[in-house]
Amino acid sequence: MRTQVAIIGSGPAGLLLGQLLTNTGVDNVILERATREHVLSRIRAGVLEEGTTAMLQEAGAGSRMRAEGLPHDGFDLAFDGRRHRVDLHGLTGKRVMVYGQTEVTRDLMEKRARSGGRSIYEAVNVRPHGFDTDRPHVTYQKGGREHRIDCDFIAGCDGYHGVARRSVPQGAIEIFERAFPFGWLGIIADVPPVGPELVYANHPRGFALCSMRSHTRSRYYVQVPIEEKIEDWPDERFWDELRRRLPKATAEAVTTGPSVEKSIAPIRSFVAEPLRFGRLFLAGDAGHIVPPTGAKGLNLAASDVRYLFDALHEFYTEKSQAGLDAYSRRALARVWKAERFSWWMTNTLHRFPDHGGFGQKIQHAELDYLFSSRAALTALAENYVGLPY
Ligand SMILES: Cc1cc2nc3c(=O)[nH]c(=O)nc-3n(C[C@H](O)[C@H](O)[C@H](O)COP(=O)(O)OP(=O)(O)OC[C@H]3O[C@@H](n4cnc5c(N)ncnc54)[C@H](O)[C@@H]3O)c2cc1C
Repeated sequence: MRTQVAIIGSGPAGLLLGQLLTNTGVDNVILERATREHVLSRIRAGVLEEGTTAMLQEAGAGSRMRAEGLPHDGFDLAFDGRRHRVDLHGLTGKRVMVYGQTEVTRDLMEKRARSGGRSIYEAVNVRPHGFDTDRPHVTYQKGGREHRIDCDFIAGCDGYHGVARRSVPQGAIEIFERAFPFGWLGIIADVPPVGPELVYANHPRGFALCSMRSHTRSRYYVQVPIEEKIEDWPDERFWDELRRRLPKATAEAVTTGPSVEKSIAPIRSFVAEPLRFGRLFLAGDAGHIVPPTGAKGLNLAASDVRYLFDALHEFYTEKSQAGLDAYSRRALARVWKAERFSWWMTNTLHRFPDHGGFGQKIQHAELDYLFSSRAALTALAENYVGLPY
């Protein structure tokens, strides 16, 4: 088989890139290790920047998001038993959209099916080859047979555990990494959210977050030690712990119910440099991971795709390599700013085992400062709504 761009991974990055290419007549094939149903069963991000929603619209996969997504003009930070609002729209003129990653993925998959795009699910042992030459190809197994796709470029959109980054010779890539000593225990429950906007809480017992997916589906998290076991957290224990970490009135307003999903996610910062190796390009979680505190993971996948799509489009329409040559530098410049913001949010809102009283006083001073300085609050808001591409 032959295509112009072989895309590894059918997550948000791969699907969005594939759709933008298809819309402009660039042939592409998506190779995905899992089944379509498995990809759709993963519950992850939910806060979309305006740049991300604009790209979904551009891809032709934004109409359900516009109809069912929840535009948010702000969020609350809770500390010292009180809630303090960050007026995102008042400070930046922008808002964010709450719309689950599962729905984004479903909309992109459906659009791809309508456009006749080729996706190969349950592709085993996908391997990129020859990306240091002008004639790369990808191999995989399916139905007990070995297959080969010849292509112009390979896009590694296969997430943190994917094969694309691992195929690069060790000396050609540098890794920057920080693992945090805690995780997020998260649940989804079919109960109305505690309020119309997100609440991020800094509490002596640890961080908590009240989020949502819709008016009837809530997403809640509490910080837990990384070695915690999910079976030690029956729903009742989760709800009790969550309420302890929220201001009294907020805790009393929480509607509880049986969880429909419960998991513990490790919290990690990770960046691979560069993001281009000859004709192989990494995009999204394949190249970088952020702690979810700033809600940036999915949005960074989208901004990588913005730069990569523009570069490929320029290559195919103008025969220019300039965008491809600039891809890694442009994407990483934005990635590192989001890494900094997510790291800052994580440090400001969580309890750290080695911070002690000094660390807590610094956190308190930071939060106090934020709400006494419009400049400081604006800096938070402009990062949260998403820096320009
Ligand atoms: C538990 C969890 C919770 C999260 N919560 C948030 C959040 O609240 N907010 C936020 O902004 N971000 C969150 N994230 C991050 C966000 O989900 C990711 O940034 C986003 O999914 C990145 O999209 P992607 O397409 O780059 O990668 P992925 O979504 O990981 O997609 C990669 C795809 O590649 C496939 N693949 C992997 N290996 C291979 C292979 N060898 N061959 C073929 N296919 C392969 C995978 O099956 C997958 O479908 C969370 C992530 C996790 C894991």
